[in-house]
Amino acid sequence: MADFPTPIAIAVIARTRHKMVIAEIQEAAKQGAKLIELRLDFLAKSPDFKRLLHNRPCPILATFRRPDEGGRFTGTEEQRLMLIRHAIVAGVDYVDIEIDIIDQIPRFGKVKRICSYHNMTGIPEKLELIHQQMCEKDADIVKIAVTAQTVTDNLRVMALLKNPPKPTVALCMGDLGTCTRVLGLRAGMPFTYSTFNKNRQIAPGIISFQELQNIYKIEQITPETQVFGVIGDPIGHSLSPLIHNKSMRKLGMNAVYLPFRVPRGDLPTFIESMKAVPVQGYSVTIPHKEAAAKLAQEQDPAVKLIGAANTLLATPTEIRAVNTDMQAAIKAIKANLPMGPDGQPGLLSSRFALILGAGGVARAIAHGLLAEGVAVTITNRTPERGEKLAQELSCKFVDWNARHNVVCDTLINCTSVGMHPNLDESPIHQSFLKPGLMVFDTIYTPETTLLVREARERGCHVLTGVEMFIRQAALQFELFTGKTAPIEYMTKIIRRALSPVHEPDDEEPSK
Ligand code: NAP
Repeated sequence: MADFPTPIAIAVIARTRHKMVIAEIQEAAKQGAKLIELRLDFLAKSPDFKRLLHNRPCPILATFRRPDEGGRFTGTEEQRLMLIRHAIVAGVDYVDIEIDIIDQIPRFGKVKRICSYHNMTGIPEKLELIHQQMCEKDADIVKIAVTAQTVTDNLRVMALLKNPPKPTVALCMGDLGTCTRVLGLRAGMPFTYSTFNKNRQIAPGIISFQELQNIYKIEQITPETQVFGVIGDPIGHSLSPLIHNKSMRKLGMNAVYLPFRVPRGDLPTFIESMKAVPVQGYSVTIPHKEAAAKLAQEQDPAVKLIGAANTLLATPTEIRAVNTDMQAAIKAIKANLPMGPDGQPGLLSSRFALILGAGGVARAIAHGLLAEGVAVTITNRTPERGEKLAQELSCKFVDWNARHNVVCDTLINCTSVGMHPNLDESPIHQSFLKPGLMVFDTIYTPETTLLVREARERGCHVLTGVEMFIRQAALQFELFTGKTAPIEYMTKIIRRALSPVHEPDDEEPSK
């Protein structure tokens, strides 16, 4: 779209009171919005365009969405059409008009017209035909927002962006489709939609304006932008997009890193379909680590050992699986070993470790420690799972109820006990925490778990999951980019994100 030389995020404002809409228009412009959509269907009263458009700091798009297309307009269709005409005459810069009514609203003045179609439940069989019909309407831009039901729907919708007869925005709603809101820009969409006020969920899967600007840096996206991402389910709270996007941009790379929600069982189909983008590398998290190892044509030694991968590197011909969890955890432990009586760091190989848990992280760390010559004991709430892992590793297993009787100098929590939101739980009684005991809690949300707090209070030597998280991300980053990871910067980003107090980002616009 000639109006905007680079892709932009439309800041969508949806408030019930004029006063709040007007305040948010000014705030959005201050934060860099170049086009603002007013969702006028949210207003409790009829829109007062004189007030809304007075002193507008940037172009305004007016939308009155009806409920069957995801809106809140409660009047009659006749009233809605009348309001759209009012908005046009009042001098908005853009107006959104659905395909079925666009013929009833004549073009007027310089007001640009977005012809839209929304489907809140799925993707119509005749999607391509609908797009073609929309392009034939008297519109400047065509917008299609449909709901992804499967991981392959995204590609079908993005195919509409290949040389369309009219500038087109085609995206998938829902959390399966979130990636299209950014990937579509790379494929030619002139803009994407974003919620200006994070607390207002205007459309399923929508990303906030602040994230699109500060994390995804969407104005810098071009067809050449390299694509990476994290696969998991759920994926909404992953810190990986934050750490990788910021680090890639810090090193001046033209790259973007996206969250991909992929339901259990769908990984092979997803990876195959995304070859068309193409995505060059993935971080992999729960529940896909084992499936990721299986689908790769090439596995690094750690993946072969553990049977799970947290990283996939994709070339046009093959997928390579890597596990950076094991290396990251062992590096973190080695870098934090307590000093011996001679003032030198102690030897890892002479330690006795008790591992709490028998899941993926426990398996990776246990393999790594055994390879370093550490004596390992495993305990797990579900004995069968713990016994199986201990058998596989030829190490000791103790019953969960007997864990407090184990004598060790290193305690590693690989359970989710103490993780958000169960902040008042610890996997071990505090009487177990003797001065000098090395305690490594792999949990990083929060960083200071109850176990970490009690261990510090009792004079233990403590290592938190944040260090492992940053190290595994840094190793991944180096595999993805071939560049040295900016570890200090990564640490700063993660500590700031995990801090209960919001510390302003260096790059955030001042308020
Ligand atoms: P997982 O495969 O699902 O394993 C979870 C483990 O937690 C299992 O051993 C499970 O025991 C145990 N568990 C869950 N609830 C429990 C409870 N109420 N009481 C006792 N045991 C309980 O998960 P994972 O991938 O190994 O992840 C484990 C932890 O590692 C997570 O909490 C996560 O925070 C952390 N992690 C850290 C990093 C990092 O980079 N720092 C990376 C990934 C994960 P059962 O077998 O009895 O269910």
